Amino acid sequence: MQTIEVKTKSRPSTVYCGKGAAEKARDILRGKDVFVVTDANVFRLYEKWAGDMFGDAPICVVPAGERHKNRGTLFAILDKMLDARLNRGSVLVALGGGVVGDMAGLAASLYMRGIHAVQVPTTLLAQVDSSVGGKTAIDHRGVKNVIGAFYQPEYVLCDPMFLHTLPPRELRCGLGEIVKTGALDADILDKLEKNSDRLFDLSFMEDVTADCVRFKAGVVEKDECERNGLRKCLNMGHTTGHALELFYGRRSHGEYVLIGMYFESIIAERKGVCSRVYAEQLRALIQKVIGRIPKFRNIGEAARVALFDKKNEGKNEVSLILPKTRGGFAEAKLSIGDYVGMIEEIGGGVL
Ligand code: ADP
Ligand code: ZN
Repeated sequence: MQTIEVKTKSRPSTVYCGKGAAEKARDILRGKDVFVVTDANVFRLYEKWAGDMFGDAPICVVPAGERHKNRGTLFAILDKMLDARLNRGSVLVALGGGVVGDMAGLAASLYMRGIHAVQVPTTLLAQVDSSVGGKTAIDHRGVKNVIGAFYQPEYVLCDPMFLHTLPPRELRCGLGEIVKTGALDADILDKLEKNSDRLFDLSFMEDVTADCVRFKAGVVEKDECERNGLRKCLNMGHTTGHALELFYGRRSHGEYVLIGMYFESIIAERKGVCSRVYAEQLRALIQKVIGRIPKFRNIGEAARVALFDKKNEGKNEVSLILPKTRGGFAEAKLSIGDYVGMIEEIGGGVL
């Protein structure tokens, strides 16, 4: 098990990563007034484990899935916290994937202006990405993560034990963010390429999770609240990926991020930002995770719709984080017309 400190200004967090990390909850929570939030799927799978670990602490079980990441569920959690008479010394434990982490983290930040939070991420995506860095949120009026806060958990417990029950779709989803991290860190990229035939082995995922957490901790320390632009690099592949996710919505977030990176690597090559050799290396790795990239019908419309979402209103250009060299990236600004035209050609199978 590895210990990774995230030295953020607001409040430092400690991440335990590897076998036995979840058991750390015993020491951390001893003698504390604990409140657990989880979702119905995780509860079904880990009810007994949670009973052993958290004793008779109240467990608030919310319905699973992003469509429940809304104010109704948030306020249901806050109501239960009030019913349980939590106080400023209480600890909220978020046991689940990114949805539970986001929503329970926000509840912890709001209740009495903030109580202690411990994240126990149970999906690969949450372990390598969303549980570290303190982003919490709910969706509102169709806009993703529009109501939220930066609120660092005191501890994050990333335990590979939880990955054994994850369906393949969820593993591919997490691998999406892992490959993205590889494109931002040459050592992680080397490791992914060397192990490209065992990307789906749980032992490999366990090993690379700690690398990804360390990388993310470094970025978050330099730009906790997304103010100076450093944290932006984490959005590689996300502009296009997000457009596809919104419009087509069948695959997981991480898979769309990979497809987004695939298309954007072609844009990077065309714009002279990165060499063909490197772009091809990245695309080969992406295909190891998701196989052949399909053609997308109406992809130009998908891109346009996403760019005119409520957060982007009024902007005429698109900012992309493009791969440049192994582990290096460059921000490129393209006009919407230029971007949509290229995405149409690349993703619509015009070529
Ligand atoms: P993500 O972490 O990908 O953002 P969610 O929080 O929605 O997304 O989790 C994805 C799905 O996986 C949900 O249906 C959730 O209940 C389920 N899930 C979470 N953790 C596990 C686990 N360890 N084993 C099996 N299913 C899980
Ligand atoms: Zn993402």
